[in-house]
Amino acid sequence: MAKEHMKSWRVGDVTVTRIVELWDFQDDIHMTMPDATPEEVIALEWLHPHYATAEGRQRMNFQGFVVQTPERIVVVDSCIGAGRRRDFDVFCDLPDGFLEDLESLGISRHDVDTVMCTHLHFDHVGWNTYKDPETGEYRPTFPDARYLFGRTEYEAWQTIRHDGVHTDMHLVECVDPIVALGLADFIEPDHTIAEGIRCEPSHGHTPGHVHVRISSQGQEAVITGDLMHHPMQCAMPHRDATFDMDKEAGRQTRIRFVDTYADSGVLVIGAHFAEPTAGHLVRDADGEVWFRGLGL
Ligand SMILES: [Zn+2]
Repeated sequence: MAKEHMKSWRVGDVTVTRIVELWDFQDDIHMTMPDATPEEVIALEWLHPHYATAEGRQRMNFQGFVVQTPERIVVVDSCIGAGRRRDFDVFCDLPDGFLEDLESLGISRHDVDTVMCTHLHFDHVGWNTYKDPETGEYRPTFPDARYLFGRTEYEAWQTIRHDGVHTDMHLVECVDPIVALGLADFIEPDHTIAEGIRCEPSHGHTPGHVHVRISSQGQEAVITGDLMHHPMQCAMPHRDATFDMDKEAGRQTRIRFVDTYADSGVLVIGAHFAEPTAGHLVRDADGEVWFRGLGL
């Protein structure tokens, strides 16, 4: 979308680059946590101004990630896609730009060898495909890549399709064509994607959700997927998340995630976190956990 919003982080020999499609989207905190209030947002000083407005609204991005090792080029979550019709106006008819941003890294769509979707919601599969202007068909954006879908995740959506929140057009346009062409591999939740890049299970948001752990040269990072949407959830992992399909499992996943990564030194890259998107989970003297974005 906008090259100025791209940002890269080094993790040993691995580089993770953020490509943003929707920058600084502001909405009511209810979009993430149904029982949270603007007053609670306002009271958490560390959220301001980067992750929340003065009025207690949340700020977030919609973005995908390119993970480069010396041998491999992996797209983790391919975002929303351009020119799409989705259930909310804000996600419809986004401008092109994702591939131009990718090319600015010296990467063509033919260079990508793997596309990994943490789960199969519309904002994590969008650029799996593009619409052929001649035929109107949805074609693979990365024709030389293997596309990794969680086996449990994929199978669940075969029966769920309409989940009450999303229609299934993103599955029809961005997942089904990949499977039909034989480009998909169905993976287990602890799958190793490449040397130093592996999945960790985190179901709850969706039935087969995973997040991605990166280890290289003694440095560590994790890309969250949607096990959380906003840094406020680092402090309140036990609270319900609006878009978790299994709310109890989502809570358990977040509690485990915060316990694992607080004070771990692992760089946490939030799939929907506004800038600074990457940072650390820090436990203060009272035992409260907060998210300290890099540079803050
Ligand atoms: Zn998402």
